[in-house]
Formats: sequence, C-alpha cells, structure tokens
Amino acid sequence: MNYPAYFDYNATTPVDPAVLEVMLPYFSMHFGNAASRTHVFGSKAEEAVSTARKQLARLLDADPKDVVFTSGATESINLALKGVWEANRHRGNHLITVSTEHKAVLDTCEHLAHLGAEITYLTPDSEGLIRAEQVEAAIRPDTLLVSVMVANNETGVLQPIQAIGAVAHKQGVLFHTDATQAVGKIPLSWAGSPIDLLSLSGHKFYGPKGIGALLARKSVALTAQQDGGRHERGRRSGTLNVPGIVGLGEAARLAQNLLPTEKDRIAALRNKLEAGILGQIPQATVNGSRQYRLPNTTNITFAGVDGELLLLSLNEIAVSNGSACTSATTLPSHVLKAMGLSDDLAYSSVRFSLGRFTSEEDVNTAIRHVVTVVNRLA
Ligand SMILES: *Cc1c(COP(=O)(O)O)cnc(C)c1O
Repeated sequence: MNYPAYFDYNATTPVDPAVLEVMLPYFSMHFGNAASRTHVFGSKAEEAVSTARKQLARLLDADPKDVVFTSGATESINLALKGVWEANRHRGNHLITVSTEHKAVLDTCEHLAHLGAEITYLTPDSEGLIRAEQVEAAIRPDTLLVSVMVANNETGVLQPIQAIGAVAHKQGVLFHTDATQAVGKIPLSWAGSPIDLLSLSGHKFYGPKGIGALLARKSVALTAQQDGGRHERGRRSGTLNVPGIVGLGEAARLAQNLLPTEKDRIAALRNKLEAGILGQIPQATVNGSRQYRLPNTTNITFAGVDGELLLLSLNEIAVSNGSACTSATTLPSHVLKAMGLSDDLAYSSVRFSLGRFTSEEDVNTAIRHVVTVVNRLA
C-alpha cells in the first residue's frame, strides 16, 4: 500500500529512530524495576530514569525534582485539576478554563462539576485568543486554579500564558497549563515563570505513546489520583515505565538540540503550504491568529465544500478536521465553534500539522492534491 503524506503531527508523531534505539535495552538487558534498590538491575533502571528526568527538566529549564512521570498528558491534566481541587477544597471550589481547551481539560472539568465544583469557561475572540484581563475579571475569592493551554492542538494558536499566569498569581490563584502541543516546538521555560503545573506528552514530540509528565512545584498541594507505592514523591503511584521514560528523556534531548533550526525549517514549509493553498483557492481562509501561532500548524476552512466529502477525497495526505467522532455521529470542532464558526464552516475545515520528517516534496504533493480536490468538490 502507498501511504499518504503525513500532515497530522499534532495527533501524534513517529518515534524518532534515535529515541527507539536508546529505549530498546530497557526492554531486555536493563529490564529492572527502578524502585528495586537492592541489586544492579534496579539501580541500572533507576539511573536511566534519573538521566531522563534531568533531560526533560533541561529542555524546560526546570528542576528535575518537579518532574512527575505519568502515562501521558491526559493523566497529567487529570492529576493537576482533580489533585488541586481535592487538596484545596477547604480554600475554594472554583476553577477557570477556556472553551477551546483539549477534551482532557474540558472533560475533567465536567467531572469536577458533577462533584460540585464551579467552573467558568472563558470564550476566546474570533482569532482564538484569550486576554489576561478576561482571566482577571473571572477570578473570585474562591477561585483555586486557572487552566489555559500554551498552544491549541487544532489551530496552533498561542495563548499569552505569562500574562495569564501573572494575573492568577497576583490573586493567589494557581496556574496550570496544558503545554502538550508546545513542548519541543517552541522554547518554554519553567524557572521563574508564573506556572505552577504543566502537562506534556511524549508522543507529541517524537517520544513513545503512553508516557508523559506533569511538572508540579513542590509548594503545590496535590492529592494523588491513585494509591499505591508512593512513587514520584507520592504524587503518582505505580511502577515506572522505564523504557518510556528513557524515550521521553531522549526525545527531550533531541528537541533541545534541534529546536532552534527545526522550528524555522518547519515554519517555512508550513508557510509555503498555506500560501500555495490560499493563492490557488480564493474561498480558503485560515482559522486563528497567524501572529500568535505554532510554527507547524495551519487550520484552513474551504467554504462551500462538504466537509465529509472533502476528508474522504483527500486520500493522498493524512490530515484531520478536529471533529470528534462518537459512535454514531460526527460533531463539528468545539474549538472552531467557540471562535464563531458555523457548524458547516467547522466541518469544512482541515488541520494540516507538519513536523520533523515533513519534506518539501510532501508540501508540493499536498498543495497540488488539495487544490485539485477542492476545485472538484466546490
Ligand atoms: C494530545 C493532547 C493531549 C492528550 O495527550 P495524551 O498524551 O495523548 O493523553 C492533551 N492536550 C493536548 C493539547 C493534546 O494535543
């Protein structure tokens, strides 16, 4: 089978071959449990975990002690939001987030609402942006936590998280950010930032699936979400996924080395793709801020083109339209709808996300194919 060109890096990335290579011995020769302190099998694993913790911390300018390894961003987000709410209920019951967040945040908030928490969902402007003043105005005496993502997975829009964190801190409110789409794509610094909790995932930056981390400052009261051996300083029990952690560490090391050149190379390809499509399809429009945006993402609406037919017809490229497929029905993207798009326009939108292995040839293929298909369907 001839595989389509891959333009869905925001859904997941391939494991970098260098990451796979460093992981392999931890499935076989160095298979020990990192918590086994009495023999060399355990100490080998523990050393590898410690190295990976430092590698991840270095990428984010963080203290290795603040790293809690998890199974991925979904778990990190659950731990951050539920853990803060449970540990701080005596102080308040209110959380603030944004209607364009990932479902991992929105559904966790829904869960907390069922348990009695009060949630404010802020609405972004038509460019997908939230202003710090909106957050400030929503803060109440009983607000515990603000959760706003760094970069949106569907549009790539970057929120002003420094300013948002600062207004939260001014009022004594904790700040969590879902940085899953930003880690490895843009520089991020934990030290000195107004971020108390940060969620990330290995498989969004060339690490394996099923491994992620929560950065959490020591001062943050956080109730663990599973009971057991009190691994990870009591914040996340469960035997550590050593090969996954080793892979995440190597992915972080690679990202740190490659990021300065990679982000410009990918931005140039994304810009070429966008210009190629917009130049030949007059009704095509870009969703979200083009100024405050990840270098690798463009989300384009093809007005007047049936969304379902469009995705079915785009068989030479692998893309996504951000809509949620439940068992029976497909719902339009909640992100685009929150930015003011109608259901029809949201369905007619396509997310192109590029990455480390995207070539100029892939971009040329995509432009030619998209123009042909859209002209046929329009
Ligand atoms: C992929 C993604 C998640 C979920 O990450 P998993 O590691 O797959 O659980 C959360 N937030 C954002 C923004 C994402 O892109």
